[in-house]
Amino acid sequence: MSQQESGAKPRIVSCPRCGGKSIYAPSNPFRPFCSERCKNLDLGAWASESFRVESEAPADDQPFGDPRLQ
Ligand SMILES: [Zn+2]
Repeated sequence: MSQQESGAKPRIVSCPRCGGKSIYAPSNPFRPFCSERCKNLDLGAWASESFRVESEAPADDQPFGDPRLQ
């Protein structure tokens, strides 16, 4: 087998969303995702995840320490 140095060959990465092959090149505007669908799905998951974390933050009316000790 002969080694080929082809700089024009697009780099293939695995899509973070579906694990499929994704072309990591300017020709793929959705990189590192394989498609617009995967990119939108991932962004949507991230948005709902951060929203959930924010809504689960501890309430401010929780006193610091045990009030019975004061
Ligand atoms: Zn994908």
